[in-house]
Amino acid sequence: MRKALFLLFLANLGFSFELRVKITQTSIVNISGTRYFELYDCESLIGRRYSAPIELKATAGGILTSSYGEFLGPVFVYPLQDSYIKIGNRRYRGYFEIRRQGGGLLVISIVDLEDYLPGIIKREISTDWPIEAIKAQAVLARTFALVNQKHKAEGFDLCSDVHCQVYGGMEAEDKVAILACSATSSEVLCYNEELAPVYYHACCGGLISDIRDVWGPSLPYFKSKVCPYCYASPHYNWQYNLSYANIAEKIGISRVFRVERTGKGRPKEIIVHYEGGRKAILANDFRNMFGSNLIKSTYFEIEETWNGIKLIGKGWGHGIGMCQWGAKGMASQGASYQEILSFYFPGCVVKKL
Ligand SMILES: [Zn+2]
Ligand SMILES: [Zn+2]
Repeated sequence: MRKALFLLFLANLGFSFELRVKITQTSIVNISGTRYFELYDCESLIGRRYSAPIELKATAGGILTSSYGEFLGPVFVYPLQDSYIKIGNRRYRGYFEIRRQGGGLLVISIVDLEDYLPGIIKREISTDWPIEAIKAQAVLARTFALVNQKHKAEGFDLCSDVHCQVYGGMEAEDKVAILACSATSSEVLCYNEELAPVYYHACCGGLISDIRDVWGPSLPYFKSKVCPYCYASPHYNWQYNLSYANIAEKIGISRVFRVERTGKGRPKEIIVHYEGGRKAILANDFRNMFGSNLIKSTYFEIEETWNGIKLIGKGWGHGIGMCQWGAKGMASQGASYQEILSFYFPGCVVKKL
């Protein structure tokens, strides 16, 4: 009986994935709870229960609390009963670890993967869109959070800004985000029995990129293909003018007199001709040089103007993986989230963790 209970305990552990997400690094942290919370110091093993807000400050040797002296830290902050912890004025699920780092305090949210996801979805996709598109996004966000843990050496898994996924805690959740996450609970995208690296972008402009043409190494499920589902996107067509003077200045060369692109579809390189030579620039670098919000994608043709070039482009983003406007189009036509994912990630399958 006891063994059975222990196995049950292990099985439950197996289904919970705790993430360590950096919320902020700052000199003063204001902590409160929606009700009671407890501060526990790992060094002295002292726990203190609070109902009123407290302030933590980094000192030379520890962490000073506004209401109960100094702790050595790191400290853990647990919600008690049905309370949630607030950092500043944002509520968060899970509990916190706060440690001194670089003269300030590093605030890490320790949260179950399933409780984390609803706090990021709205920043990644519009929750006014058809639910199957949002479910597809939820599966990708869950997979991304497990595959892209780039901060292990710093003591946490993910940061909470655009570098990883923008996480806003409970203030960023909404009903649709919670529904899409719970309907796909613990589902991830796999390739060959392993978690698949996943990418997505706003709109492909009708042509999904091959990952090799953008970032180099190839992956079999990131091949170029036609996407017939995103033509309703406001980003489907765009134009942008660049003067030769502007291009010359950005690249640091003399007078530019012609700019052309290589290949068909999405160009690999942009060739800039100037007095005294020519320079080949990777299309992706060219885009980033002028700003990825101005040159919305590398999927463009070039037309000459009186003083430079006009880029006649399609789509917004790198074009790799799932086209979000395409996912919206597929969902509007009745596709399920599994069908959406298998169109944009051919050969990959949705599996439960
Ligand atoms: Zn990050
Ligand atoms: Zn598309």
